[in-house]
Amino acid sequence: SFTNDVCPQAPEDPLFGLMAAYRRDTDPKKIDLGIGAYRDDNAKPWVLPVVKQADKLLHNDPELNHEYLPIAGLPDFTSASQKLILGKKSPAIQEKRAVAVQTISGTGAVHLGALFLARFYNPSNSDAKAVYVSTPTWANHNQIFGNVKLPVKGYPYFSKQTKGLDFDGMIGAIEGAPEGSIILLHACAHNPTGVDPTQEQWKKIAEVMKAKHHFPFFDTAYQGFASGSLEKDGWAINYFVEQGFELLIAQSYAKNFGLYGERAGCFHFITSPGSHAAETVSRVGSQLAILQRSEISNPPAYGARIASLVLNDDKLFAQWEEDLRTMSGRIIEMRKVLRSKLEELGTPGTWNHITDQIGMFSFTGLNPDQVNKLREKFHIYMTQNGRISMAGLNTKNIDYFAKSVDSVVK
Ligand code: PLP
Repeated sequence: SFTNDVCPQAPEDPLFGLMAAYRRDTDPKKIDLGIGAYRDDNAKPWVLPVVKQADKLLHNDPELNHEYLPIAGLPDFTSASQKLILGKKSPAIQEKRAVAVQTISGTGAVHLGALFLARFYNPSNSDAKAVYVSTPTWANHNQIFGNVKLPVKGYPYFSKQTKGLDFDGMIGAIEGAPEGSIILLHACAHNPTGVDPTQEQWKKIAEVMKAKHHFPFFDTAYQGFASGSLEKDGWAINYFVEQGFELLIAQSYAKNFGLYGERAGCFHFITSPGSHAAETVSRVGSQLAILQRSEISNPPAYGARIASLVLNDDKLFAQWEEDLRTMSGRIIEMRKVLRSKLEELGTPGTWNHITDQIGMFSFTGLNPDQVNKLREKFHIYMTQNGRISMAGLNTKNIDYFAKSVDSVVK
């Protein structure tokens, strides 16, 4: 049976422990910087106005029922998701080189991709059947690929010195990986570091990957949420598609729609241009449907219906873009304020990385000792690696946060 030898007590999820400690803390000054969800200036969850509008429309639709969605998901949702990522006039869509399957948010999309690769990826060099992820990466990547028994290897990513990209380390490792390796890339707003390659660096990454016949797997969980521009945040993926790569994309609507709990996401396969493209897409799509059937049967309807209404209506879409600018704008503003406060206080070290980094998270460079002091003395909660969720900062607590950081760094 399930003795300790075969099923030992698992360690507590570090983020879960952090959240529990935050909840127990009764100090009114406490700040939660662990959360991976957007908060407004009052530290409250924010339902996007466009989501409220779409919700009302759904509510008033007399035709709506609770039947199963098709195995591959809501067709209006998956086709709009393709257009969102690849562009409305994308040759990949026009040439039928793309197939999309609705998934359980971004996590489910990464999982479906992992399962597909474990089953069907067949490089000529069997050593290449491994996925390379950035060091560090979203912790779940390691677990998801581990679950399907795909070996996970790392490529350098974060430079402790500059608190920016270790570009030489990254390129060197990608160049050194066996030909045909799978390379997982964060499309924008890298989690946990907030560090993204520049467009010039992306071009070089594509060049090296092409020369080595590597296989890109993009994880995009923050399109529009990072810079406020859907195009800008989707640039890297589109560049790779234009370069003719065959690739995978895991797309999440959790952050950019604030649909965290509704689990709306999409998995995409795009093949290279060529005479067999449509036939390849048909075969891959048929196998994805079989995998999906055995994993979840049918994806959940509600979040996909909300996103689909917005993505397929010009007026709602424009409202969504405004909501995206509200969220990204507030976060970018908090980055500016935090940096300038730390610089004004003369806090030792450089703080340009706070505004150079982008998206929900920032790797502050605070060490575990400083992180513990912030928690014990100042009731400020963040993960041991010094990652803060920018969404936890607001006009009411940022002064207190900057002074607390100053005090533990000095
Ligand atoms: N990928 C990355 C890099 C993420 O940061 C996240 C969320 O934090 C996800 C995927 C997936 O999240 P979800 O399953 O909620 O869409």
